[in-house]
Amino acid sequence: MNRHLLPEEIDLLIDGEAGFGVAPLKAHVKECPDCSAELETARAVALELDLLPHLSPAPLFADRVMSQVQVFEPWHVAARDALARLVPQSTPARVLAAAGGLSLATVVSLATLWIVARVDLLALLGGAALDRTQATARAGLASFARELLGGQAPDNGVVLLLALAAFVLAVVGATAGLRRAVAAPGRRSQG
Ligand SMILES: [Zn+2]
Repeated sequence: MNRHLLPEEIDLLIDGEAGFGVAPLKAHVKECPDCSAELETARAVALELDLLPHLSPAPLFADRVMSQVQVFEPWHVAARDALARLVPQSTPARVLAAAGGLSLATVVSLATLWIVARVDLLALLGGAALDRTQATARAGLASFARELLGGQAPDNGVVLLLALAAFVLAVVGATAGLRRAVAAPGRRSQG
């Protein structure tokens, strides 16, 4: 070998590595006073470091360091954590929250139906100017219903039925949630 050792090669020798690349390094150290001296210095430093007393860091040292470190968090992890913080811990509260969400969804879909109906009425009164709005709203609702029905084009009755079913589900869910919330306080520690 006709060059001096690199720092990491000196580390290899100090660590006593016995790999297959170590033999030429050792051979070079034997015939090169520079590298030999450097290896001796490094070995002495390693020995001194070994002899240093082992100190444990101050309490909360890691916390203080990490408070200054910007940890990269992918957006989906952040979103999941934010959602997880929103979900209540106890079972009754979870059921209530789910029922509340379902009720909200029902209110929104009923409001959508109402708006579609209003748009219908306005279109009748106002003429063709609103036709496109009405068609868009109708198409949106219809395509949502079509998704649910698996590609089948629904008529107005089916759409109304879907909204009714969602409403009944929400009422049943809210009732069950309330019942569990009333019945559950004794078991809260399990949830
Ligand atoms: Zn050398």
